[in-house]
Amino acid sequence: MSRSNLVGLLPSELEDLAVSLGASRYRGRQIATWIYRKGAVELEAMSDLPKDLRKQLAESHEIGLPDLERATPSQDGSRKLVFRLADDRRVSAVLMPDDGRITLCLSTQVGCGYACVFCLTGTMGLDRNLTAGEIVGQLLAANTLLGDEGRVTHVVFMGMGEPLANYASLVAALRIMIDPKLGLAYSPKRLTVSTVGLVSGIDKLGREDLKVNLAISLHAATDDVRGRLMPINRSWNLEALMAAVKRYPLTSRQHVFFEYVMLEDVNDSAEDARALARLLRGVKAKVNLIPFNDWEGAHFRRPPLPRILAFQGVLLDAGITTTVRWSKGEDIGAACGQLKELASA
Ligand code: SAH
Repeated sequence: MSRSNLVGLLPSELEDLAVSLGASRYRGRQIATWIYRKGAVELEAMSDLPKDLRKQLAESHEIGLPDLERATPSQDGSRKLVFRLADDRRVSAVLMPDDGRITLCLSTQVGCGYACVFCLTGTMGLDRNLTAGEIVGQLLAANTLLGDEGRVTHVVFMGMGEPLANYASLVAALRIMIDPKLGLAYSPKRLTVSTVGLVSGIDKLGREDLKVNLAISLHAATDDVRGRLMPINRSWNLEALMAAVKRYPLTSRQHVFFEYVMLEDVNDSAEDARALARLLRGVKAKVNLIPFNDWEGAHFRRPPLPRILAFQGVLLDAGITTTVRWSKGEDIGAACGQLKELASA
């Protein structure tokens, strides 16, 4: 019989579990501390937990972490991590050290169902959602891998999948990452959830009051272009999306991030840039321009550098903070939109 995973349970759920086993809530807090704060990978390691309780726990539960199958280093210092899940499916995450930060880009689904036409993951379709344990597990495993090199400082939910389409697991994972005492104690300012633009999910996330950063994969400033690139735009058009963005609660220092993949002759003209500046008027926005990352069979090209810089110039002139994000790990298939793991590798 398969045992259920302790990883992915909220600290409060671990407390409830301890009580259900006849122990005190305090024991549940100890378990949470061992898993999330001390990175324990085995029940036996929980030395201050009564032996009987450990034994009882082991009958029904385990500490299940995704199995790090491969860690491929890129020339730019990033590393692509491929995880094998308990059912042999695979997802990847990318570790990106930069300027004293270590950012982990992690996955929330196996595959993705939103079929953005420029995205390789989108060609896979959706296989399944990850559990909260599999999402948090990627972070725990990355921190273990780093060891003495430090700890992941920032997490972006920008790997495979659509985070807001796996809502319950996403929010559980976020709560575990944020919990300052019994969880991983990340400041919500260091966590960024990226979405294709699921309006109902954006509204729900706003109501959770988690204060995490929101990133929108925008990629076009007109419904015509966006509708051709991203099928989701036919369910929620730009007007509906921007209204949801404006409702999302921000602290005084927070911005909404907008990702804009640059596709030659599709969305990269000065007119496109002006339309984008107009769309973002009145929004506390930061724009990340992502030059298209190629993959075999893709029907798009990256614009020449002067065109990217001209586009950026229009936005900067309009007073919008805009950076060009050269993706990490392009040489190892780890760049934005390049993640696709085969079922068996
Ligand atoms: N589903 C979520 C999380 C994925 S984030 C979302 O779409 O926001 C990954 C980012 O990389 C998204 O902005 C996506 O549109 C972008 N992307 C996808 N394919 C790309 C490619 N080939 N080159 C550059 N960026 C790409």
